[in-house]
Amino acid sequence: MIIGGSMAGLFAAIALKKHGWEIAIYERASDELAGRGAGIATHDELYAALRNAGVNLRDEMGVRSRGRLLLAPDGGLIGTLDAPQIMTSWGLMYRFLRAQLPDDTYRNGANLVNVTQTADGVTAHFQDGSITHGDWLIGADGTRSSVRQIIAPEVRVNYCGYFAWRGLIDEALVPSAALEEVAYRMALCLAPGGHWLGYLVAGPNDTLTPGQRWYNWGWYRTADDDRLRDHLTDSSGQYYEHGIPHNRMRADLIQAMRREAEAQLAPQCQAIIAATAHPFIQGIIDLGCDRLRYGRVCLVGDAAITARPHIGLGVSKAAEDAYGLAEALSASTQDRALAQWESERLAYGHAALAFSRDLGSYIGPAPNTEAHKAKAAYHQRPEILLEATAPNEPRRWLNLKR
Ligand SMILES: Cc1cc2nc3c(=O)[nH]c(=O)nc-3n(C[C@H](O)[C@H](O)[C@H](O)COP(=O)(O)OP(=O)(O)OC[C@H]3O[C@@H](n4cnc5c(N)ncnc54)[C@H](O)[C@@H]3O)c2cc1C
Repeated sequence: MIIGGSMAGLFAAIALKKHGWEIAIYERASDELAGRGAGIATHDELYAALRNAGVNLRDEMGVRSRGRLLLAPDGGLIGTLDAPQIMTSWGLMYRFLRAQLPDDTYRNGANLVNVTQTADGVTAHFQDGSITHGDWLIGADGTRSSVRQIIAPEVRVNYCGYFAWRGLIDEALVPSAALEEVAYRMALCLAPGGHWLGYLVAGPNDTLTPGQRWYNWGWYRTADDDRLRDHLTDSSGQYYEHGIPHNRMRADLIQAMRREAEAQLAPQCQAIIAATAHPFIQGIIDLGCDRLRYGRVCLVGDAAITARPHIGLGVSKAAEDAYGLAEALSASTQDRALAQWESERLAYGHAALAFSRDLGSYIGPAPNTEAHKAKAAYHQRPEILLEATAPNEPRRWLNLKR
């Protein structure tokens, strides 16, 4: 039983199916997830995990980016870096993975509310009163994982002290002069309190045709709990703790953000923000479990360890977690293989989490120790921003011996 039908859940299902397991995915959302828009920087690890699971990749999995460029607030070019990488969209990846699985393995509208287990099996309890039994249960239900809250309630979800303004718009809406400058590289702009970044991704119906793609951008802004709460509150006063629907964002907050952009960001970024009719926000949170296996229940993807997005590794990590778990569950020495999987994936996930915290160390609350100050100063240097933001060779940056 796989709880959560997004990236980690789909990867787990594909990999387990290849090993001959009978699988069922239970997804809380009652309709297709594919509408969730977002840009995703990808890595070779992701495609290796998919190939290992027997998946034939599309000819093009996203927009080919040549590297990065860093803009100064006046619009001048501070530097570029060649680092080829495929930038895809969440929707393209979701639809691609979903198409690998028969429809009868995927159940929408299934909200897990409890898990019970014995030495021989595990039982999932759903909100509609239904229950299902299986040999194993995989929690692939994301940062706010219900599975994790049931089996490891002690694990804390940390708000990092900043959120991201985000937008996803037709590339045709970006003024052509600005688009020409930023089209085939991830564009970054340093600003007080957090950087801006943006890149092209697949457009509607996963098209990669020039002129019909989407431009995806994000801008990190420091915000204490009160400011975050204000941004998650709509004009009627309703507060949305876990994320405000895009169409409920208050106009006064959007106006204030646009004014701040005019004062702090390069004109190219301002033009992209101005062309975005419905910017929205996402609070940045992170967390890390100390175990991935709890009897017959295992955690993968963001449910297990959520790194901050600066490292751009969540989808690849989810794929590798899931692929490794499927191998371990299918091994003849299952217990030993699971222990090894858990130890390797914990080491990797915590290294990713630590590095993502380093990358975000200059955003959020002001540093209050010398060590934090030094770390923050180091990580907002232009060369680090260019090279280490969603790096195309993530393992090179991770301290896997920590
Ligand atoms: C701003 C931002 C930018 C990012 N950029 C990148 C990037 O460039 N590259 C990259 O690789 N990653 C990036 N990420 C991270 C990436 O989006 C996540 O790591 C990835 O989506 C995790 O997948 P997941 O399947 O583990 O969790 P999720 O995608 O969160 O999916 C969890 C699923 O579980 C379901 N669910 C939850 N509770 C229940 C329940 N009780 N019962 C049943 N189902 C349930 C949810 O509906 C959801 O579909 C970014 C994240 C953010 C916030």
